[in-house]
Amino acid sequence: MNAILAPAPRRVIRELPDDLVSQIAAGEVVERPASVVRELIDNALDAGASQVTVRMLAGGVRLISVEDDGSGIAREELHLALRRHATSKISSLHELESVSTFGFRGEALAAINAIADCVLSSRALGAPGAFALDGRTGELRPVARSGGTTVEVKELFYSTPARRKFLKTDATELAHCVESVRRAALARPDVGFAIWHEGRLVEQWRRRTGPDGADAPLAVALEGRMADVLGAEFVQRSIALDYRSGTPPGAETRRDTQHPVRVRGRVGIPDAARARADQQFCYVNGRFVRDKVLSHAVRSAYDDVLHGQRQPVYVLYVDIDPTRVDVNVHPTKIEVRFRDSREIHQAVRHAVEDTLAVPRVAADPDSEAGPPPLAPDAHRPAGAWSGWAQPAMNFGSPAGHRVSDFEALWPVSRTTGAAGTGSASGAAPAPATVAGGVAQWVDEVPIHPPRELAGAWPLGRALAQLQGIYVLAENAHGLVIVDMHAAHERIVYERLKTQLDTAAGGDAGAALASQPLLVPATFAATAQEVATAEAHADTLATLGLEITPLSATSLAVRAVPSTLAHGDAVELARSVLAELAQHEASTVVQRARNELLSTMACHGAVRANRKLTVEEMNALLRQMEATERSDQCNHGRPTWRQLTIRELDNLFLRGR
Ligand code: ADP
Ligand code: MG
Repeated sequence: MNAILAPAPRRVIRELPDDLVSQIAAGEVVERPASVVRELIDNALDAGASQVTVRMLAGGVRLISVEDDGSGIAREELHLALRRHATSKISSLHELESVSTFGFRGEALAAINAIADCVLSSRALGAPGAFALDGRTGELRPVARSGGTTVEVKELFYSTPARRKFLKTDATELAHCVESVRRAALARPDVGFAIWHEGRLVEQWRRRTGPDGADAPLAVALEGRMADVLGAEFVQRSIALDYRSGTPPGAETRRDTQHPVRVRGRVGIPDAARARADQQFCYVNGRFVRDKVLSHAVRSAYDDVLHGQRQPVYVLYVDIDPTRVDVNVHPTKIEVRFRDSREIHQAVRHAVEDTLAVPRVAADPDSEAGPPPLAPDAHRPAGAWSGWAQPAMNFGSPAGHRVSDFEALWPVSRTTGAAGTGSASGAAPAPATVAGGVAQWVDEVPIHPPRELAGAWPLGRALAQLQGIYVLAENAHGLVIVDMHAAHERIVYERLKTQLDTAAGGDAGAALASQPLLVPATFAATAQEVATAEAHADTLATLGLEITPLSATSLAVRAVPSTLAHGDAVELARSVLAELAQHEASTVVQRARNELLSTMACHGAVRANRKLTVEEMNALLRQMEATERSDQCNHGRPTWRQLTIRELDNLFLRGR
């Protein structure tokens, strides 16, 4: 269980040799009360505590006391604990390189003792009595207490009034202190935490599992702790993931293989994103970190489903070989340096992207207990359960019409059945939906299920169209409302991406399948548009477009992507040219590929006010179920909402 730092067996405190001291990142440890809280909790966890109690007065400025039931400190070592560069956690450079405890600098207590009145009381494991050391006077006296340690820190910054002036209100400092405890608690469900302020219990999170920590119990415990700390809503509106990259443990390791990275935790659905980045927690080998590589990797995984300034919510535990991450970068140890940050970025990005790609249409919105637990299915090996959030869809035996029968109504490629989808009967082409196995059955699924089977469709059976904008459908939970343009836009967008990927397959010259127009669509163009069409002819070809100048003031659209053959060619050409005008000709395809495809999809998607037949509506629902990221449109807005029977009953005051 490597997400959690195992307590090292109790070792004696020693002063570090000078050459090792010089290797350790120096600097200020204590900025505010919350830094003290964090350092003291780190020490308690390093000592193997199972319960940590934090008591404070005046936002921690007047008093911070952290009590634990860990291994304690031997009487004769108490004074050493307060000395600079004295630690029990490492004794050599070698140990520094693969340190598995939070602490290793031997400086926190010394630094805190220098700016506050400290009293250290402790009873070491198996010792007959307990002793308290007054950090100011050096007085050592016997006290009564059970095994463990309490560090009391009074009047922070009493000797440096200038520093004290920089502190904010007690309420603000308290909030930061609570945040410190939260960060620790989210990674250690096996430890109970309590926070008291001015004699009042502020937070209490009970232990969630035994310290033996087999995988499944840990996953369940973590989920429980997330619900305790971040609220039940966080768990309900997030998806579990467990992703591994690199050489699996146990496999023969070769020098040239990628190093294993495991990414676990929960990522919020796009809908759960917030205005502030206040629910983003990353851990590396159990240590809370703020790291640009990690946060960028996560944000980029959301790029395609969350637009603008919204901040995703997540708790992620990244586990890697400790020798591949340097924790000795910053004195507060909140920053780390990865040996290979690309490897970490990729693993985290893939882990989150894959998790978000699965359409959530099958999740159970009706259940008040939230989605199924984080625990992996006992029958499946760990690591193979990232798709747990979506129960298997059972579509029964094919009956009624096939989606492909209705393809003529939807713009679909004639030449590229992307993702290798075959046609069922050799008649209509199969819809190009998503990569991988999902595409296989789209073609086979009935879109007119018998009434009793309608409930088996995650998005249900289409009932009607509302105001030319919304599709109404009935599923097992009640009413489904679909924003038809938003949903279709995502379907077309994903289809275009898949087509380009499939066509590319490593080949740089690949392009979207294109369809010549029998009659070229000509339009009056600006000089800018004409210039762009000429400069970007290659990019346009990649996108399946052929736009050639007729004169200095007019352009002709001669071919469009097959997938978008039914749309307005001129409008499509104009918007693609407008977007291309902002880019350098050479770099545009790689850099702006998705934006361009998204723009094109917007034009290819069914427009508001277009009357749909029930068959078309059902085809849309089935395609949504089979399309990655179909819960959000290309602009990050939701594509569908569920109104459950219970919500409807509430609306009508039924059953009250
Ligand atoms: P570091 O944690 O880097 O070793 P600290 O100054 O935080 O340095 O602590 C110094 C030493 O005091 C630790 O190495 C540890 O041996 C001991 N110590 C501090 N707090 C505790 C605690 N709560 N329980 C047991 N030992 C502790
Ligand atoms: Mg420490």
